[in-house]
Amino acid sequence: MRGIVTYDRRDLRVLRDMGFLPGGERMGAGEAGARNLPFPLHVFYEIKSVLGRVEPPLPGAHNMISCFGDNRAVEADPGLAAVGPDGLRAVRGTPYFDWDWVCPSEPAYRRRLLELVERAAAEGIAGLRLDTVSFPREGFCRCPRCRAAQAASGLGEEEWRAATIAGFVREALARAGAGRPPAPPSDPGAGSGPRPGPRRGHRDRLDPGQAAGDGSASAAGGILPGPAGRHGGTRPASSRPLLSLTLYPDPYGDHQFRRFGVDVAQLAPLVDFFVVPIYDLHYSTTYWVETLAWGFRDLLGDTPFVVELYALNVDRKALLKAARVADAYADGILLAYERAPEALAVLEELGPTPARSRLA
Ligand SMILES: [Zn+2]
Repeated sequence: MRGIVTYDRRDLRVLRDMGFLPGGERMGAGEAGARNLPFPLHVFYEIKSVLGRVEPPLPGAHNMISCFGDNRAVEADPGLAAVGPDGLRAVRGTPYFDWDWVCPSEPAYRRRLLELVERAAAEGIAGLRLDTVSFPREGFCRCPRCRAAQAASGLGEEEWRAATIAGFVREALARAGAGRPPAPPSDPGAGSGPRPGPRRGHRDRLDPGQAAGDGSASAAGGILPGPAGRHGGTRPASSRPLLSLTLYPDPYGDHQFRRFGVDVAQLAPLVDFFVVPIYDLHYSTTYWVETLAWGFRDLLGDTPFVVELYALNVDRKALLKAARVADAYADGILLAYERAPEALAVLEELGPTPARSRLA
């Protein structure tokens, strides 16, 4: 996979005019390759960032939604903030946090997120990428709502956290009509699947999201339902949006599970691929890019993943070296936040995805 990540509307105009997105005045309907790239180009666009600003869905692109990072929501209702040990709130201005984190079991907020997912999925998008889908840190969330939900589940805190996150992703998948098709029956696995770790066996025991009432169709919260999807219920399976999920760049041990409540063994069957941002301003050394990328290859096994590199104003040679290192382990490269024409030129020089990649 080759792709670019942007939140800049100017990039969208450029990409439309180049034919990489639908609606360009010159090109008409978008067709990847219109600029004669030797590979399809995937465009990722933030329709909801951690700032909390919501943009209209963007057809033809992977629509990115920051889920539980949302400054605006917490500013409007401080009671939404996740709460950790000793009453520490997961908000800016306290140790550890660059943005405000919403408690992942708050039912009205979850409902608004899922409505946004459904609205985007109805707009002919290429994919849906879920960001900040986790608890903010180990020990979170211990608000009264979460404590009650955990007690009702009968699970320990870590297992309950993982089940809560997986329950949300499962609901998003159902609302989007996205995600991996069922695995073919004849694949006993080559022993390289995601490592289940110590929490195997808790999978599917409960769905706390449903217990919190996320299944209702209330439009409370001000995000209005969108128009009916242009593909309706007749969308062929091949055009369903791809579902991806962003992981914090730490593949070691069970850090994803213990720190964030992210159990890759539960999530891998739900998503088409994971995205791992590995950012630096210079990439003057790349051994750490390699150890992280290889670590994720081991951690995720049969589930594809792409590495997202920070590309804005980064030296081109250094960026290309980092991309080639990551490409040796990942299923593709995304370049973030560089202007579209420059990012495209770097991808052209990088060339098509290696043949062993599991993502076109
Ligand atoms: Zn909570």
